[in-house]
Amino acid sequence: MKIKRLAALTALAALLFTACGREINADWRPHALGAKVSSESLFVKKVESLSEDFILGMDASCVPALEKSGVKYYDHSGAERDVYAILAQNGINYVRVRVWNDPFDADGNGYGGGNCDINNAVEVGKRATAQGMKLLVNFHYSDFWADPAKQSEPKAWRGMSIDEKADALYSYTAESLGRLVAAGVDVGMVQIGNETNGAMCGEKSSSLGGWARITRLMSAGARAVREVCPNALVAVHFTNPEKVEAYESYGKNLEYYGVDYDVFASSYYPYWHGSLENLSAVLGDINEKYGKRVMVAETSYVFTAADGDYWGNTVTDGVKGYPVSVQGQADLVRDVIDTVAHTAGGIGVFYWEGTWISVGGGSYGANRALWEKHGSGWASSYAAQYDPDDAGKWHGGCAVDNQAFFGADGRAIESLKVFALVREGNAVQKN
Ligand code: CA
Repeated sequence: MKIKRLAALTALAALLFTACGREINADWRPHALGAKVSSESLFVKKVESLSEDFILGMDASCVPALEKSGVKYYDHSGAERDVYAILAQNGINYVRVRVWNDPFDADGNGYGGGNCDINNAVEVGKRATAQGMKLLVNFHYSDFWADPAKQSEPKAWRGMSIDEKADALYSYTAESLGRLVAAGVDVGMVQIGNETNGAMCGEKSSSLGGWARITRLMSAGARAVREVCPNALVAVHFTNPEKVEAYESYGKNLEYYGVDYDVFASSYYPYWHGSLENLSAVLGDINEKYGKRVMVAETSYVFTAADGDYWGNTVTDGVKGYPVSVQGQADLVRDVIDTVAHTAGGIGVFYWEGTWISVGGGSYGANRALWEKHGSGWASSYAAQYDPDDAGKWHGGCAVDNQAFFGADGRAIESLKVFALVREGNAVQKN
């Protein structure tokens, strides 16, 4: 019965795509990497009917900055390896990378958070592609972190009219994607903005004509994707799925203003974002009303309360039903995958920055020097000029190292295997 239902949905999707004049293609779909993974200690309940091309993604944006700081990664056997190879070996089939326009001050000092400009994305993309994984390019359209609290336009775009800004965003997107394609990167999906809850690139929905301006920018980005990467999916990204009416308004505005997109993506952090049932309901609603694919673009969970880098972590407590442990982290990931896989239109789940760990210095001072020099903390002091109220006051290290899949020593922890083990399940005694 399930197979028949899926076939019907596929037929419906084909009709919708034909109606929009877009040809159906499968180039965004991940390759079946087929790694064999086993575990003696991790319990993983099988996700039933998980399609072979379901996206099991990892945001791994900071890796180059961490490696410059001295970080090395080791697989479960203790062998030092390219971290992207370790991810692929453990069932990850897609890598996500954020892109900031110009995360540097006038003297070339990086703002931190991995100094994630397009050069960094090309390196991450090439390394992911070399391991058979596709890339999700995540444009923030800012010079530093973009989220519901911050959607500052790039320095170079300040003072532009909306016409000029849309042109600049189109050109920047096209040029950046052109660089990735020229480098041989397997771009499968492109995200137009990051957590754009009623704001993007300096435009706010609360201003007069705000949604018209925001969606105009989204459309400019989408047009660049269609032209440069015609086989890639265009994704939009919002957060706070627990605010059901807000999600309904995002869907309506995208439709009303005719934004050309394929995937409606949501963040899902269990500490803040409501239940999995609610997540499934709001994403399923978008699929039902607008025929869009849906996914989780960011999720994560704490495997320990301990800090690994002398810079306090954002979350130390778990949520009900998921202990703060390696097993608890795997359970949460498994259940998010299960939820999206059984939501109409669900195509995948990306874990956020599962490779962001301590730079490994023996003291706060030693780590601080590395964060400043290589941009491997969440923000450096140089970001103060661009983001004075937050980065300017609180610049420092990694606040999510207790949500990674690698220990402070760089060695993969057992829960990383969940991405491979969800396909068949792993029946051991649950600790
Ligand atoms: Ca930390």
